[in-house]
Amino acid sequence: MTDQTITSVSRESRVFKPSTQFKSQANLGSFASYQRLYRESVNAPERFWGREAKKFLAWRKSFGSVLKWKAPHAKWFSGGRLNVAENCLDRHLAGPRANKAAIIFEGEPGDVRTITYAQLHREVCKFANVLDSLGLKKGDRAAIYLPMVPEAAVAMLACARLGVIHTVIFGGFSSEAIKDRVNDCQAKLVITADGGFRRGKIVELKPNVDRALSATPTVEHVIVLKRTGNEVAMAEGRDRWWHDVMATASTQHKAKAHESETPLFILYTSGSTGKPKGVLHTTAGYLLGVTMSAHYVFDLKESDVYWCTADIGWVTGHSYVVYGPLSCGATVLMYEGAPNQPEPDRFWQIIDRHGVTIFYTAPTAIRSFMRWGDDYVKRHSLRSLRLLGTVGEPINPEAWMWYHELIGKKRCPIVDTWWQTETGCMMVTPIPGAVPTKPGSCTLPFFGVVPKVLDEQGTEVPPNAGGKLFLMQPWPSMLRTLWGDDARYKQQYWSELPGLYFCGDGARKDKDGYLWVVGRIDDVLNVSGHRIGTAEVESALVSHPSVAEAAAVGRPDEIKGSALVCFVTLKTGQAPTDELKEALRNHVGKEIGSLAKPDSIRFAAGLPKTRSGKIMRRILKELAGGGEIKGDTTTLEDFSVLAALKSDDE
Ligand code: ATP
Ligand code: MG
Repeated sequence: MTDQTITSVSRESRVFKPSTQFKSQANLGSFASYQRLYRESVNAPERFWGREAKKFLAWRKSFGSVLKWKAPHAKWFSGGRLNVAENCLDRHLAGPRANKAAIIFEGEPGDVRTITYAQLHREVCKFANVLDSLGLKKGDRAAIYLPMVPEAAVAMLACARLGVIHTVIFGGFSSEAIKDRVNDCQAKLVITADGGFRRGKIVELKPNVDRALSATPTVEHVIVLKRTGNEVAMAEGRDRWWHDVMATASTQHKAKAHESETPLFILYTSGSTGKPKGVLHTTAGYLLGVTMSAHYVFDLKESDVYWCTADIGWVTGHSYVVYGPLSCGATVLMYEGAPNQPEPDRFWQIIDRHGVTIFYTAPTAIRSFMRWGDDYVKRHSLRSLRLLGTVGEPINPEAWMWYHELIGKKRCPIVDTWWQTETGCMMVTPIPGAVPTKPGSCTLPFFGVVPKVLDEQGTEVPPNAGGKLFLMQPWPSMLRTLWGDDARYKQQYWSELPGLYFCGDGARKDKDGYLWVVGRIDDVLNVSGHRIGTAEVESALVSHPSVAEAAAVGRPDEIKGSALVCFVTLKTGQAPTDELKEALRNHVGKEIGSLAKPDSIRFAAGLPKTRSGKIMRRILKELAGGGEIKGDTTTLEDFSVLAALKSDDE
């Protein structure tokens, strides 16, 4: 078949306009001003970014050129010098922000700590001096394997201050994953903790590091934060306690001015589609992207208490827990533990306790809350909230409406933000005071972003037809390469159509130009000659009152070419019967047409997900096809889910 476009079956058509009240206080309060700025950003990008870079960032030395672009390699703000940590901390110390909370931390056991900008600055200066005394130099790599505690932000910012490249490894990963990442980037230092609190238990981190470090020849030092107090082994000469090295460190540290393209961090992608890739981000462009998007999309104000629930192990934790909001001088809430500890209302309790005004989470979390039941939400007022956001996966309209009604009380705009580890900051997202929203759509592009939905030949497809999502122009916070593998960088992102960035996702644009991500291109379903995105079928299933979550995959079929298999988890209290299977098939038929009626429905207790909560459809595809699981599974959240799915098979 030569026609590679995607048939869209979604019928969602609701529109939600920003309220007059929200608009009147917004950082960007009209659609016309969004359009004016957007047009300038894509028609005269160098003028636009040059001006905004001066407005949003503090420079030690101004840049000479805005962009040097030799596809697929970009140099932004050449000749300029700045320091990321100085932008996130020092520049806020001159005025009243100095004594404002930078981080409000709540540990899972209930311990609360508030750290002001002045205090955070002192901690970062001390830790920078510690790194310096261990001989860490600009360009060296340091791995960070910590729980969600303020010291994680301290470690990242201290690295940034020195120009040491950090790679944060999610605290839930195994020693195998640590070893792979440390060896791939040849880290000299590992920063870890004895453990972290999760679901009422201690997650021991140090033993994982010790196991990994038996096969990582480049590591010279380990710094260990005491968080949980469990016994740990300390290797003589290699390991030092955080509190010991910090006790004698000076609070004075003069930040160096780094060249704009100085590498800032390496972050390995979440691995939904294959082996993780070591995405490299650099200094000025990245910081501009995250600062500006945090300002406009989260509409940050001096009085906000902003909470992003992502772990610092993910790009969302880098861009929107640490760098973006701190560069804006915001108050960031940080929570260590699980959403259902001790009970499934922990998040709502935290929002009320700390007066959270902006809340940013993932669709997978929202679907869990729906599954646990509305009563947990209704125990709390959530009065302080004024803005909600989502990221990580397409959000099905059902979950969007639940979020809007139960959490936002129909008062808070929802920003559905599409972006990737590779893009550094949000790419397609509503600006809440300016752009009307539609449930399930990430709406319109952020400044400087030109997304197009193209077919195999590179021709733009008509409205509502699906195709591959490309970004047509370079943007400041784009990845610069894959660490140590520029060939894979070119192959992975720039080889589909020359000179254009291919993100790997399928999408459609509606008649208003709104973008709807329909799923990964590799996961597109081939049903009776139609290519359908996974998100639309899954969304139809999840709109049934019994269903909590669904994953749709194709299975090779002798007659049809490909049969549609759907894995379904049910809401608490629902029974997995054959009648329900039939009802679900009919429900999909009714919602989106008989063409997408699943051939087979399989109930599952859980779906295989990455640690960041994304469904790993590639694993389900292999299972549905009756084959072995061959791909990389190191980023899988819970191996027992896989075992249960396999045994259901027999
Ligand atoms: P890997 O690239 O290793 O397979 P990954 O793509 O899951 O992992 P991330 O960079 O964390 O790793 O995720 C980016 C992807 O998440 C996007 O390409 C898209 O598929 C999905 N995504 C993120 N936000 C949204 C959103 N708002 N709407 C739809 N999809 C989203
Ligand atoms: Mg990806």
